[in-house]
Amino acid sequence: MIKTDVIIIGGGSTGCGIARDLALRDIPHCLIEKGDFAVGATGACHGLLHSGGRYAVNDPEAAAECISENMILRKIGVKCVEQTGGLFVRLPGDSKRFRDMFLKSCEETGISTEVLSPSRALDLVPNLNPSLEEAIKVPDCSIDPFRLCMLNITSSQKRGGEILTHNRVIDIIREHGRCVGVKVQEESTSEVSEIRGKIIINAAGAWGDKIASLAGSGVPMTLSKGSLIITNHRLTNMVINRLRPSSDGDIIVPNEAVCLAGTTSITVNDPDESEVDPAEVDIIATQAQQMLPDFGSTRLIRTYAGVRPLLKADGGDDRKISRGFRIIDHKNGMFSIIGGKLSTYRLMAEKISDRVMDVLGLKTRCRTAELPLEGQGELSGYPLSKRLKTLENIVCECELVTADDVERVAMEIGTRRIGDIQHRTRLGMGPCQGGFCTYRALGIMQETGKMTPEESMHVLREFLQRRFKGIKPALWGDQLREEQLVESIYLGILGMEQEQ
Ligand SMILES: Cc1cc2nc3c(=O)[nH]c(=O)nc-3n(C[C@H](O)[C@H](O)[C@H](O)COP(=O)(O)OP(=O)(O)OC[C@H]3O[C@@H](n4cnc5c(N)ncnc54)[C@H](O)[C@@H]3O)c2cc1C
Repeated sequence: MIKTDVIIIGGGSTGCGIARDLALRDIPHCLIEKGDFAVGATGACHGLLHSGGRYAVNDPEAAAECISENMILRKIGVKCVEQTGGLFVRLPGDSKRFRDMFLKSCEETGISTEVLSPSRALDLVPNLNPSLEEAIKVPDCSIDPFRLCMLNITSSQKRGGEILTHNRVIDIIREHGRCVGVKVQEESTSEVSEIRGKIIINAAGAWGDKIASLAGSGVPMTLSKGSLIITNHRLTNMVINRLRPSSDGDIIVPNEAVCLAGTTSITVNDPDESEVDPAEVDIIATQAQQMLPDFGSTRLIRTYAGVRPLLKADGGDDRKISRGFRIIDHKNGMFSIIGGKLSTYRLMAEKISDRVMDVLGLKTRCRTAELPLEGQGELSGYPLSKRLKTLENIVCECELVTADDVERVAMEIGTRRIGDIQHRTRLGMGPCQGGFCTYRALGIMQETGKMTPEESMHVLREFLQRRFKGIKPALWGDQLREEQLVESIYLGILGMEQEQ
């Protein structure tokens, strides 16, 4: 049985940020995550490190948090934040009044802006819609949520933090009305074990209410599903936003070799409801094409969706719900932290860690805004071309991942799961979506004794099913042709459908 001071439930950006903050304050802690890091909303997000521009008009408090955290994260996380800059583009018909409100609100919240003429905007992003009226430049960035989580966890691991991924919290242990620990079940063995702690932090995002209910409490949440689509190449080097009140499909974010366009906002009842509806793909692609006409002739390589853990609203439009966060003291030894954004994860972690210090009667102050994220030295950073230096033994051509990278991660974390390798190396996250590199990575795992050939066939089958689920809603044109090629390789040449 593990005994610790603080139990953190959830390995998204919030939970990983809390683990780093507590580690830097020397507080013993244990983080429990039912899957791998970032498998919830964090890994399913748009990857935009907000300047705050998107919220400036309607949610100025959240906007101010975003810009202040943006300035901190670009300093402490140089290898996971790409300083792309962003444009808010105004197209014919978009309200001039909203544009004026936008500029005024940005000024009031401290977001720097620069109004650009159409020709100046086209100099920066040549494939913008040439009929744009104007663009406003803001300090948006692109951020890698997987890398962000791993780097935060590095600080915890270096200072003795207990990290349990692929372990699900199935119960909260209560004694005399107080939460004193959790029961967790390991994913592959189903073994159940106990972890005892003085304080429990519920950082389970959209699953927060489910966790709170295990302790006889609840958290008031609205769950909002958002879908995104990925293009097969990088159409823009800057973040492109539509200059209008937030609505569907109005942001395009460059992310390494690809672009992520989205999103939608649909209220759901269950955090696991994350199917992409083909109608959402149509909406996003149509809207994105209005900003970048090339979008219409670009191959869409995958879709995905996540569920936003928002503060409870009394009905109406999810987009109007504040992106601010709240800490709930359940007065039984458990705290929940809900709402917020990936962009404000560090601030969220700081505020809840301050509460932990109060409960423990300690005074060590937060240092997460000053110290660079640890573990960045081994990363190549931006632009992606820096990785060309490692051209030897490449297994994933799209993301330039080498055989050594795969072998190192497999050995370091002792995993048999291909997803764990993908989250740590970006293997399969580029244009082929793992179609041509996953079997190579599994071969390496076999050679290093991590899995048997039979196990790797099983993993490959599961991977292909998951991959197809993401591709299905956007399957037409060239992508359909590529899928037929992938299908004939796996089913025809490799005979994957045949019984073993
Ligand atoms: C479509 C979409 C786009 C977004 N785009 C952006 C963006 O561009 N920029 C931005 O700043 N924000 C964005 N957001 C918001 C942002 O992603 C979230 O606010 C943030 O990632 C939430 O992080 P979290 O750690 O609180 O939750 P999550 O990332 O969901 O983490 C919660 C974790 O708890 C785990 N968990 C749940 N139950 C259990 C259990 N019983 N036992 C153990 N573990 C459990 C889950 O597996 C999960 O990993 C977006 C969100 C969505 C859905």
